[in-house]
Amino acid sequence: MPDHCPKCEQLYFPEPGFYYGAMFISYVISGFFCLGFLMFFHWVLDWSLELSFFLLIVVGALLFVYLFRISRSIWLGLMVKKGE
Ligand SMILES: [Zn+2]
Repeated sequence: MPDHCPKCEQLYFPEPGFYYGAMFISYVISGFFCLGFLMFFHWVLDWSLELSFFLLIVVGALLFVYLFRISRSIWLGLMVKKGE
């Protein structure tokens, strides 16, 4: 991850521990994602709970890095004032 934006010079690491709050974004997103995922496979596709959970763990492991980055950029977008 670069230390600042190539276009507007916004620092990506404004202070130590800045991305601590991104964990909560990540938690909310993954929470709703897991719920929706399980409900879809268990109720809509009528898979067993065990199989749905197994697939959720596999998919979750694959999406983890992507979610980590999304959460950080959402957090940065929330915390940084635009147009300065
Ligand atoms: Zn920028």
